[in-house]
Amino acid sequence: LSIQEKIKSVIRDVPNFPKEGILFKDITPILLNPTLVNELVAAMADQFKNDEIDAVAGIESRGYLFGILLAQKLQVPFIMIRKEGKLPAKTIKESYDLEYGSATIEVHEDAITPNSNVLIHDDLLATGGTAIAAAKLIQQKAKVVGFSFVIELEFLKGIDHLNKINTHTKSLIK
Ligand code: 5GP
Repeated sequence: LSIQEKIKSVIRDVPNFPKEGILFKDITPILLNPTLVNELVAAMADQFKNDEIDAVAGIESRGYLFGILLAQKLQVPFIMIRKEGKLPAKTIKESYDLEYGSATIEVHEDAITPNSNVLIHDDLLATGGTAIAAAKLIQQKAKVVGFSFVIELEFLKGIDHLNKINTHTKSLIK
């Protein structure tokens, strides 16, 4: 089986979570299989083998699971993008609109090397709102070289929004 087929076989579709009408892709079963985790991270790293990447930025919290492993595989720093109010030292912030209201994410200011090439990682691309906000946050100090996802929900067309910022988006499965 290919890595894509293996991952598809363990991802669990949970109907009506977190609310009615949403079919949630549960990635947690991947974590129960260390060999699969290894293969997944190797496959993601391989997608960016021709790119110059200075750091991987992971989006809280499922973006940390494989993001930090991806950074280790690429032997570059890992940057934590967190929800507002969690990081202890000086931060830079970015706010974005949600379906109802808005949200703010932030990073430690000294975690980003000025003008460096940052790869943004999250577990899943849906509408793209979260990834766009993360990109704008990183772009306050550095460059976004691309986006990495385990899963892309193609029907939501989040890629169209990301392409306005950076056309280099790779997802392992769609
Ligand atoms: P977006 O901002 O692209 O609409 O939503 C993506 C964000 O919501 C990601 O941070 C992702 O973790 C989370 N998310 C939305 N839907 C799902 C889902 O079905 N499964 C998982 N694992 N995460 C989701």
